[in-house]
Amino acid sequence: MALAKKCDICGNLYENYNTFFDPGMEESNGLDLDVNGIAFVNIDEEDMYFAQKPIDCCPVCMDKLKTHIRKMMKDAGNGNMAEDSDGNI
Ligand SMILES: [Zn+2]
Repeated sequence: MALAKKCDICGNLYENYNTFFDPGMEESNGLDLDVNGIAFVNIDEEDMYFAQKPIDCCPVCMDKLKTHIRKMMKDAGNGNMAEDSDGNI
């Protein structure tokens, strides 16, 4: 049964998507993963992290976030981090 969700960013309703763990997480910065939300984290000196409350994202907002983060990385000269698995920014 599909679950209707409300995007925490734009407020639009959407059907939940990408609800299963994407096993690519270990090799990725997350920009090319099938995810459905974001969470700010606190990272300690040993790279342990503590996630804050997750932010639900509709597919449109998730695409915009990924595009914006890729642009920020590229503008900062960190384009290699912004590439997707096909090498595109
Ligand atoms: Zn949205």
